Amino acid sequence: MSRFWSDLVKNLTPYVPGEQPKVDNLIKLNTNENPYAPSPKVLQAIAAANGERLKLYPDPNALELKQAIAEYYGVEVNQVFVGNGSDEVLAHAFQGLLKHSKPLLYPDISYSFYPTYCKLYGINQEMIPLRADFSIDVEDFIRPNGGIIFPNPNAPTGKLLALKDIEKLLKKNTGSVVVVDEAYIDFGGETAIKLVNKYDNLLVTQSFSKSRSLAGLRVGCAVGHPVLIEALERVKNSFNSYPMDLLAIKGGVAALQDKDYFNKTCQAIIDTRKTTTEGLEALGFEVVASAANFVFAKHPDKDAAAIFQALREHAIVVRYFNKPRINQHLRITIGTDAEMQALLDALAKILPTV
Ligand SMILES: *Cc1c(COP(=O)(O)O)cnc(C)c1O
Repeated sequence: MSRFWSDLVKNLTPYVPGEQPKVDNLIKLNTNENPYAPSPKVLQAIAAANGERLKLYPDPNALELKQAIAEYYGVEVNQVFVGNGSDEVLAHAFQGLLKHSKPLLYPDISYSFYPTYCKLYGINQEMIPLRADFSIDVEDFIRPNGGIIFPNPNAPTGKLLALKDIEKLLKKNTGSVVVVDEAYIDFGGETAIKLVNKYDNLLVTQSFSKSRSLAGLRVGCAVGHPVLIEALERVKNSFNSYPMDLLAIKGGVAALQDKDYFNKTCQAIIDTRKTTTEGLEALGFEVVASAANFVFAKHPDKDAAAIFQALREHAIVVRYFNKPRINQHLRITIGTDAEMQALLDALAKILPTV
């Protein structure tokens, strides 16, 4: 704390991302990165752009990327917003669409960046408890609100809410914006982008960090009614004219074009998720059915924090949240088959000792 800090800064609770340890031969299963490299076409597109052109500013509107996203999802360009990772897109949505006098609603077990944005922007918030099995009951969200947000599939549970339930919510909640954060949708869900032409209060955000192996490039987007998109543009153009650098624009476009590579790597993760779930269950874990690139697992007789520590000693990092209701769970990112086998082997050794 310093006397030079503003009152706002003194009162912030910054988000703490999963660690990026600098350890050799570490098996990193803690931040839901993709174990597979980006498409070779992405790397070619970035290499081709990475020359003298970098002396110039990029297109402030990132039109090429917006057009590629619009074409991919069958929407108009003015229904697409792009940002420096979906975290930035979400931040603009919090400030531009979800800040009202009534509280913003989100699940009690959910992405921990949401309360951080509420603090930063002074947004009233109300957490809605998930059911005991971690599912969302949309009826619980039918109450006075200034906006609703949830990840689908949810993080850190991996649980998917069916599109028909999202539609049920949209039918009943017409007075505020509903943001569906689809960071993990490509690993087993159906995108709510299908509904944006039917509901003018639906905003869907997506990320290129997980299913397109581009966490390091920082590309995210939102799709919704042009009036919602305009709100995001107004915030963006009052904050940073060039959030998308040239490499992110070119790499993002190439990632959308290489559908074969995308389908192949997503399917590999889905297959590995199945074998990992079976392996964990064979070791006695209870595993939440996941539609994401991670699983959320609990051992009925072993302490999650102790397992987490013991795995670290085997150079395997997973994510542990010391929070109510989930402090006996571990969130484990799906890596390659070899990485997941190493995890299962380490757990078999560890479990009798913790
Ligand atoms: C990873 C994640 C994001 C952020 O993704 P970026 O595009 O890398 O900023 C947003 N929401 C959820 C739920 C996530 O897990």
